Amino acid sequence: MSERIYYTKPSITDLEVGYATDAARNGWGDKCYEYITRFENAFKEHLGVKYAIATSSCTGALHIGMAALGIGPGDEVIMADTNWIASAAPIVHLGATPVFVDIRPDTWCIDPERVEAAITPRTKAILAVHLYGNLCELDKLLEIGETHGIPVIEDAAEAIGSVYFGKRAGSVGAFGAFSFHGTKTVTTGEGGMWVTNDPALYETALTLSNHGRDPKQVRQFWPDLLGFKYKMSNIQAAIGCAQIERIDELIAGKRRVFEAYKQGCEGLEGVTLNPEPRGIRNGYWMPTAVFDRSIGITREALQAAFRVDGIDARVFFHPLSSLPMFTPCAGNTLAWDISARAINLPSYHDLSSEDTQRVIGVIRRLHDEAING
Ligand SMILES: *Cc1c(COP(=O)(O)O)cnc(C)c1O
Repeated sequence: MSERIYYTKPSITDLEVGYATDAARNGWGDKCYEYITRFENAFKEHLGVKYAIATSSCTGALHIGMAALGIGPGDEVIMADTNWIASAAPIVHLGATPVFVDIRPDTWCIDPERVEAAITPRTKAILAVHLYGNLCELDKLLEIGETHGIPVIEDAAEAIGSVYFGKRAGSVGAFGAFSFHGTKTVTTGEGGMWVTNDPALYETALTLSNHGRDPKQVRQFWPDLLGFKYKMSNIQAAIGCAQIERIDELIAGKRRVFEAYKQGCEGLEGVTLNPEPRGIRNGYWMPTAVFDRSIGITREALQAAFRVDGIDARVFFHPLSSLPMFTPCAGNTLAWDISARAINLPSYHDLSSEDTQRVIGVIRRLHDEAING
């Protein structure tokens, strides 16, 4: 039996270990924010944005940002049905309602036409989640948002390294949110980042992120409003500083793995991998293979085939509206159908070419068996 191939693994070098050790040993007292500030500044520079707040998670960053936009009870936020629950939970926690619409067949991301049709007087935001590194059609979403006076939020947790017509994912909307969970392209163990170019929104988010204490407030222990506590620690930020120094290498690793899969699947009719349309660069956080309906593959067959080979492949996101806490939107035909015939492939930065070949072998075998009966 060949060695197990893991789904994801962070890329940690002596640089991360060195910074984390320094933070653990020295990063206290008046140095307790040093790595945090440095990480925020490096991230701003990488992304090309004016403001950034390091957080304990992407979910926390979304929660703060949505609260800063004033999203609350009775409001609606439009998002794609195909997503991880982390993007929807903050909406519900704020007392608002996520409105799930269908995805596009080419990007697997939110369909702008469905967004337009779902707008009501209660719509407070459009949540653009860049799925698996693939980008939403931001120009169309921004145009719809502008027409109706609704902000577009970017959940760019999966889109580090993705670029939309010269602009990095997460830098385009009213605000962007990132995740540094251990499975993501850049990691701090757990962690996130909230970014914006809007000075007023930044002020509000900063106050909310610090237990509601206005930065201009001079009284000690005096919150001006009820806020949140989703801060990143200095030790996590130290790891983040090292990861940002290595970010080009980390992104290149993800792209290299994807290119190997792409080459290996060449000529396989009815198997589609993540797209990279004109004007777009895909960070390929999660290489994913979608099998055409006509091939007749099932989620169970996909999982079983990879499992037998010791390959840790994961199922495509279930539609959120199929989960027990939401109301089914079976009208989102593609979102409800695609997850049964798609699979996430292993992709860590230094995955060897022998291992990518093993994964490709399973895909080709599945394809042959399905085609030839
Ligand atoms: C990973 C992920 C999140 C959650 O990130 P956390 O840092 O674990 O809160 C949110 N949205 C998307 C799209 C993700 O992939």
